Amino acid sequence: APLIAVCGRPNVGKSTLFNRLTGTRRSIVGDEPGITRDRIYGEIEWQSEYARIVDTGGVVPDDEALIPSEIYRQARVALDEADAIIMVVDGRTELAAPDLELARILLRSGKHIFLAVNKMDTVQITSDAENFRQLGFRDVFAISAEHNNGIGDLLDAVFETLPRPEVEAPEELEEVWEEEPDPNAPKPRKLRSHGEYDSKETKVAIIGRPNVGKSTLLNALTGTDRSIVSPIAGTTRDAVDELVERNGHGFRFVDTAGIRRKGKTTLMAEKLSVIMARKHLEAADVGLLIIDATEGVAALDANIGGYAHESGRSVIIVVNKWDLVTTHRTDGQPPADQKAYTEQVRHALKYLDYAPLLFISAAEGINVNSVFREVQKVARERRKRVTTGQMNRFLADVDFQRASVPMNKRVKIYYMTQAAVAPPTFVLFTDRDVKLHFGFERFLENQVREAFGFVGTPIWFKVKARN
Ligand code: GDP
Repeated sequence: APLIAVCGRPNVGKSTLFNRLTGTRRSIVGDEPGITRDRIYGEIEWQSEYARIVDTGGVVPDDEALIPSEIYRQARVALDEADAIIMVVDGRTELAAPDLELARILLRSGKHIFLAVNKMDTVQITSDAENFRQLGFRDVFAISAEHNNGIGDLLDAVFETLPRPEVEAPEELEEVWEEEPDPNAPKPRKLRSHGEYDSKETKVAIIGRPNVGKSTLLNALTGTDRSIVSPIAGTTRDAVDELVERNGHGFRFVDTAGIRRKGKTTLMAEKLSVIMARKHLEAADVGLLIIDATEGVAALDANIGGYAHESGRSVIIVVNKWDLVTTHRTDGQPPADQKAYTEQVRHALKYLDYAPLLFISAAEGINVNSVFREVQKVARERRKRVTTGQMNRFLADVDFQRASVPMNKRVKIYYMTQAAVAPPTFVLFTDRDVKLHFGFERFLENQVREAFGFVGTPIWFKVKARN
């Protein structure tokens, strides 16, 4: 989805605006390599369009002297990443030096910038916003983030300029559909996928933040118990895979050297865990997202989970250290309840609702075998193929009236066909060439899952207008 950045000096009302725009959907704290936890991401839906939004000013320095460098940092984040930028100023105070400096940097970039003059709580003073045109922006909006004034106009203008997101699709898709099939003679074609499936082996990535028990689980799964080797700083290590056979099925745990790698500081280890997760997912079919039962889903877990979801790999959520919360609790809390815990995890990782959830203790060896079973299952599901005939019968049965989507955002689907596996990717042949409405896509995905399963794997959709 396209990204909108909100920036401005401290106290102009960035956070209030951010919260206003995202409602309750505020979610993931960024912790990407090279950048500290200084920005907050959220999701925003406006007139059935969908975007991500980043508050670049997550940490506000108290020290006035630090403000200029803070401004540079914000500008850099916004300019690097965003498709549109909202600069916020305080309409009730004079412009300050940091406002001018931030405006200067943003204007130089040539990006589309919207100036939001905030704290305009009454309509009468709206004209005062005009004074702020001296900053040099063309698009000036008087708003009150707190009282919800002027927000609609601002969003209309911002969304107008956003690029339409393309559904990222497996490479082979274009190839398969070079020529359009005749809908009257839907003949299943040979499907191609990223590397044909070797049914004897599934590549598994163990991902998660430090100390959730990745190495312990690897040891439990592979039946080995090697001591943890810390790499010497500055040296690189080759990826080492570990292969295990269970039930006549091969499991390849990718880059096990990386799983054991520890950072020097907590922050470094955390950053490393994100980098490793992304790298390991690239080489895998299935990601095991490990959660520490004693800590629940943390922001960093959600971040790593987000990467897993976007990678198109299958995901299994593994709640580890379950032994520590069910019995001898040191904190006086009652033993954890699996049902309530499941709800919490599901709530925190909403976008992974298709992922199976397991409760294990890697250290005690409890329920570890269920990991093998579940990996095998999701590996099968991710390569499942639905014929065009099955798909058409399914489509005829779907009651699209039940999708809570505005009429003008609905598309008519003439037919639908699976163009790729791993992840299952469907091409919808529609009456219009539009991006699928978020709610519509959700609805369709749920229907597909109800009919065909696809447990553990994301499902991708691609729209093609017929004629
Ligand atoms: P990693 O950084 O994710 O690889 O985490 P480690 O495997 O090094 O585990 C971190 C700590 O948690 C170690 O002290 C483990 O012994 C402990 N641990 C891991 N899994 C469990 C578990 O299931 N139960 C308990 N009680 N401790 C665990």
